[in-house]
Amino acid sequence: MSIKYASINFGYVEDYRVGSVVLVLGDGQYNSEKLALSGLASDLLYLYQELTGAGKPPSRKCCKANTNNNFCPVCGANLRDNVIYRADFEAWLLQLPILTVDDFGMHDEVMKWKLGHPASTLIGTKAKEVLVINEKAEEIICDQLGLKD
Ligand SMILES: [Zn+2]
Repeated sequence: MSIKYASINFGYVEDYRVGSVVLVLGDGQYNSEKLALSGLASDLLYLYQELTGAGKPPSRKCCKANTNNNFCPVCGANLRDNVIYRADFEAWLLQLPILTVDDFGMHDEVMKWKLGHPASTLIGTKAKEVLVINEKAEEIICDQLGLKD
């Protein structure tokens, strides 16, 4: 088994999302579905945190100067809220199919999985080279990360 691609779909029954997200592994391959899923889940969590600031320590100058407080007196940011909330991450994952390349930017230095590939990338690949999540990818990814409600 050598996984180099992923095809993931979100939602379930009437909430099923018709758009698939196809990802390509930048370098190397995963030798099991478990490792491929684990790598995919951490890459997407990284991207979520990069784009939304969720679960990250405060980065603004005003906040850094006030880390002893619960809230920044200058901008009002919650300085104790560095938790990743499953519901927020799931909601973000659900909009992954409509993000643009410009929205997510370049994260090649950290992310092994690359977004922004057409489904036709998978033509000619072997089925065992593809990590397939046919439904509820948002739940499966959160479960993989051990995120609780
Ligand atoms: Zn602040």
